[in-house]
Amino acid sequence: APAIGIDVGGTKIASGVLIGGELRGRHVQPTPETGWPAVLDAIAAQVQGLQAQFPDAARVGVGVPGPLSLDRRRVKFAPNIYGFTDVPLVEGLEERLGLRVVLENDAKAAALAEAHLGAARGTGSSVYVTVSTGIGAGIVLGGRIWRGRHGIAGELGHVTVMPGGPVSGAGLDGALEAIASGTAIARDASYALNRDVSTAEAFTLAAGGHPAARRVVDQALRHIGVALSDLQKLLDPEVFVIGGGVASVGDAFFEGVQAAADEYAGPFAPVTIRRAQLGGDAGVIGAALAAGQEGA
Ligand code: ADP
Repeated sequence: APAIGIDVGGTKIASGVLIGGELRGRHVQPTPETGWPAVLDAIAAQVQGLQAQFPDAARVGVGVPGPLSLDRRRVKFAPNIYGFTDVPLVEGLEERLGLRVVLENDAKAAALAEAHLGAARGTGSSVYVTVSTGIGAGIVLGGRIWRGRHGIAGELGHVTVMPGGPVSGAGLDGALEAIASGTAIARDASYALNRDVSTAEAFTLAAGGHPAARRVVDQALRHIGVALSDLQKLLDPEVFVIGGGVASVGDAFFEGVQAAADEYAGPFAPVTIRRAQLGGDAGVIGAALAAGQEGA
C-alpha cells in the first residue's frame, strides 16, 4: 500500500508518497521557527495535501534528526530544529490526523531507504553512514533497522576514536564526529589557516595541494576509514553506504576513506564502500518505508 514519508530538517520539511518503490508527489516547505506545535501543524498539512492527491495512502512515517524515546513516540531533542526538545510527535500528529504515525531517526530512515531501494539494495546486511554536520549511521540487517537494547545502535558519531581529543556536543572527548564531521573539518581548517574556511573550501584547498588543508582533510578521512574497518570487524556487513553533505565531495572523499579502510582492514576482510544513491530523497523514502514496515 502507498505510504507517506515526511523528512523534517532544520531548514525544510520534505514529503512524498512511496508507491511501488517510487517516490511521487514530492513537496517541500520551510520548517517553521516558532516552536514544535507549528512544526506538527505543518507536517499535518503536508500529509493532508498528499492524501487529497493519493487517497489510499493511509500510513505515515516521519523522520527527524535527533534521538528518540525508546518507544519511538517522542523526539528527545533535535538540535537543528528550533524548539524541538521532548516533543510528543506521534501523539501530536495522531491527534491532528486521526491516522497511525511511525517515527524514525533520520539517519536510520536513510539507512532503510538505501538498503531497500538504493546503493545497498539486494544485500542482507548494510551500514549507512552520513557524514554531514555531524556523523550518524544506521545498521540494517535482513531489511530491518537494528536498534539495540537502548535504541542507540548506530551512534557512530559518538564512538570514541581519540581519548583526550576534542569534546563533542554530547560532552565526551575524542568522538568521531568531533574529529571528522563537516563541522570538525571546517573548525580545524579555520584554525590551521587562521581565517574562516568552510568544509567545501577545505576540500578544494586540499585538492590544490595546500599543506595544512590537506592535513586536516586527510586526517578526517583517515578516521572515517578506520571507523569503517572497525565496524567491519564488529559486524562484517556486506556493504557500507556513505551519504551526507561531506560525502558529496565525491572522488577525493571516497578515495581517502577507502584507502584508510583498506589499510586498517589488515588481513581480515575487505571493506566494501558505496556512494549513497538516493540523495535528498533518502529521508522521505526511508520514513515511508518505516511506516510501511510498522504502520496499521
Ligand atoms: P545536515 O547535516 O543538515 O544533514 P548536509 O548533509 O548537507 O546537512 O551536511 C552539511 C555539512 O556538509 C556541512 O558541514 C557542510 O559544510 C558540508 N558540505 C556541504 N556541501 C559540501 C561540499 N560540496 N563539500 C564539502 N562539504 C560540504
